[in-house]
Amino acid sequence: MSYSIVDLCVNCHACFDVCPNDAIYKASTQFMINKNKCTECVGDHEDAQCASICPIEGAILTPAGEPANPAGSLTGIPPQKLREVMAEIQAR
Ligand code: SF4
Ligand code: SF4
Repeated sequence: MSYSIVDLCVNCHACFDVCPNDAIYKASTQFMINKNKCTECVGDHEDAQCASICPIEGAILTPAGEPANPAGSLTGIPPQKLREVMAEIQAR
């Protein structure tokens, strides 16, 4: 099973350097994970190194297809609160 990167990736390059299996590569528009090389970091680290270092919520998915860093997990801002604030800003 493999982690994956979706188009929320901002190409910060951070995950590329921490993967123990060189499974992460730069594709045309974003970084991607080679599913044949990803081991979920099992045997090397206690948690997925790419997901641990990624600064963007939702950019990396677990093998189950769930965000490894779901909305609010890195910013500490509850998703509902963020939606309210964004709506308020856009209404100005
Ligand atoms: S989970 Fe581990 S092995 Fe898989 S891509 Fe991320 S850092 Fe590499
Ligand atoms: S750490 Fe996250 S945002 Fe940065 S390149 Fe990797 S997937 Fe993209």
